Amino acid sequence: MQSYYKLLKYKSFFEKKLQKSLFFCTFVPDLAIFDPEKRIFMFNSLILNRLYEWYEINHRILPWRETEDGYSIWLSEVILQQTRVAQGMEYYLRFVTRWPTVEDLAAAEEAEVLREWQGLGYYSRARNLHKAAKQIVESQKSKVESGKVVFPDTFEELRALPGVGEYTAGAIASFAYNQPYPAMDGNVYRVVARLMDIDEPFDTTDGKKLFHKQIEHLLDREHPRLFNSAMMELGALHCTPILGDACLSCPLQDACLGYAHGTAALLPVRKPRPKVRDRWFTYHIYTNGTHTLIQHREAKDIWYHLYEFPCTEGQTDDTYPFTHVLSHQRLHARYILHKVQKMPDIAGTIVIRWEDLNDYALSRLTLRVLDTMQHKG
Ligand code: SF4
Repeated sequence: MQSYYKLLKYKSFFEKKLQKSLFFCTFVPDLAIFDPEKRIFMFNSLILNRLYEWYEINHRILPWRETEDGYSIWLSEVILQQTRVAQGMEYYLRFVTRWPTVEDLAAAEEAEVLREWQGLGYYSRARNLHKAAKQIVESQKSKVESGKVVFPDTFEELRALPGVGEYTAGAIASFAYNQPYPAMDGNVYRVVARLMDIDEPFDTTDGKKLFHKQIEHLLDREHPRLFNSAMMELGALHCTPILGDACLSCPLQDACLGYAHGTAALLPVRKPRPKVRDRWFTYHIYTNGTHTLIQHREAKDIWYHLYEFPCTEGQTDDTYPFTHVLSHQRLHARYILHKVQKMPDIAGTIVIRWEDLNDYALSRLTLRVLDTMQHKG
């Protein structure tokens, strides 16, 4: 190890010169291989074995890891985008129980799917999930095995589905079919950025290309399912955003440039965040004791196709007790309770019984407002 660090030290001058080109020209004897000709960095079997041993001991038991069913893995991947595993688990189990096959999901109404998705946010994922299920059933109807439509099993077919990007297609292809495609989620971006000391933002078009090129070379083509699972789990459990002293017990430590250079905790780098937009909503909750009014969000805006109480937008001098933060918007909300004898005639609204409100998919903010109002009686 001493000679390894000495080597890195002597090379640091040249590395700084090369930093702009993003690739660190470092040779790590016996641990990883750098090919200066192709500018690639690969793990050798020793590092891979350490990674796999670590995974074997530390990985979480998760239902979507216990199956090789493409449909179930696809569901889990879509649900887990932008969602914590603990929260995603509940939704995953609910979806596979209610719609155990892609045909079952395709036969559901979009409103039912949105209703099951309620509370998970990013509702375009649910709409795309449903659209893709219909597309699969239509395009695969000639391919049936044991009475079930065969789920698409090539990267290209998967990538062509609504809502399926490079990452999701790679994840399904490798986890379900053990095909040699990388699965780069946020955890893997972090591990690769630190491992290779890349200080280029990973969330730009160029950054994504760069990271993909790197992971293509790191990928263990003989065991892609195991490799992707291990890299994702290492990022989720060990090489976490707040690093602490994790490097000291990391299976990749001997090949990690971020650790050797002392830069790991500063990585990965993101592009500057866009400015957050503030919006002010006033919900008008009408009630005659048994009925209320709701409206369907039709505009291509947040919460498209969800239901809410009639809402007006704009800031007033009143206080807005609810704050709800989305990725690029900060919403401030309040509500006004209107006790009426007869429901007003407001365009775009429908009158429903209070007891039926649960049948409609509502945004999380609407649910919070409702919860508070019910607690106040
Ligand atoms: S050595 Fe540290 S920075 Fe490098 S991969 Fe391991 S935990 Fe992450």
